[in-house]
Amino acid sequence: MQIKENISLKDLTTFKIGGNTRYFAEIETEEDLQEALLFAGQNNLPFFVLGGGSNLLVADAGFEGLVIKIIFREAKIFEENKIETSSGVALSDLVSLALARGLSGLEWALGIPKATLGGALFMNAGAFGANMADITEQVIAFDTTENKFKTFDFVGCQFDYKNSVFKRNKNLIIWQAILKLEKKDKKEIEIEMKRVMAYRQKNHPLEYGSAGSVFKNPHNLPAGEAIEKVGLKGKQIGQAKISEKHSNFIVNLGTATSSDVKALIDLAKKQVKEKLKIDLEEESIYLDYHKL
Ligand SMILES: Cc1cc2nc3c(=O)[nH]c(=O)nc-3n(C[C@H](O)[C@H](O)[C@H](O)COP(=O)(O)OP(=O)(O)OC[C@H]3O[C@@H](n4cnc5c(N)ncnc54)[C@H](O)[C@@H]3O)c2cc1C
Repeated sequence: MQIKENISLKDLTTFKIGGNTRYFAEIETEEDLQEALLFAGQNNLPFFVLGGGSNLLVADAGFEGLVIKIIFREAKIFEENKIETSSGVALSDLVSLALARGLSGLEWALGIPKATLGGALFMNAGAFGANMADITEQVIAFDTTENKFKTFDFVGCQFDYKNSVFKRNKNLIIWQAILKLEKKDKKEIEIEMKRVMAYRQKNHPLEYGSAGSVFKNPHNLPAGEAIEKVGLKGKQIGQAKISEKHSNFIVNLGTATSSDVKALIDLAKKQVKEKLKIDLEEESIYLDYHKL
């Protein structure tokens, strides 16, 4: 495994924003992972696990550490309705595999660009009333504090709304998982997938770079509606804009900086708090928070 230096992160994110990482390692095997972590430890560097970069705002100043990207991609069906998959596999590939085998449970994930299984488990990604927690039977993750792989059953994953044990404990690197799906008629799966895709195309600004929904939905009001209510729909700072199509999306009009996006995030939080007494909490992840 090669550790590369000064790699641009911009094109490794769906926002298309961000500077360089000081070090970058692509991981294919368990040995690669341990070697990369040893390098980070010996050089006293923070590490960050990058999935598809679809929920990420990277600072223009970049990251003074080691970015680890798991490129080991393998997914196979067993016991008719289960998928054993590595964390680097794209969610879209799992959606296709499930459809090909007449397995239901991942239709909601159709149309999410670039996302990987690792990022989806970390976030407990979901949409249209379904999420990763519904289909996850087991996860294997590397615990960097104990230097060993650990198995998490469904309860151990501690899934919650846009949360999991993997998000709470940054020392866990998701390596592999078993998903349990439901046998269904392929035609029914296709109908649901068409519905999901039509909704996304109509309601999401897929023509621009973004990181999906910026904020978690508060209990009383969807974040997009709250932002619209305070009059920020379409608000632009620099080259970043609160989408006219969906106010919980911030889009990159072409050359947005991380500061443009962060300024919009801060403005939305401030105004929603002042006018509606609602605390918005980011769903997107920052790399690195202190540099934004
Ligand atoms: C157009 C668009 C639509 C979207 N729609 C949805 C939607 O409907 N529902 C939804 O929930 N999300 C949605 N998203 C957001 C995003 O796609 C999901 O949150 C996705 O799960 C992130 O996966 P990723 O691989 O891109 O993770 P990244 O963005 O690369 O990383 C996100 C976090 O996961 C961590 N991570 C990634 N891999 C691992 C690993 N192997 N081990 C430990 N930690 C890891 C990273 O360190 C980071 O903290 C959308 C995004 C876009 C751009």
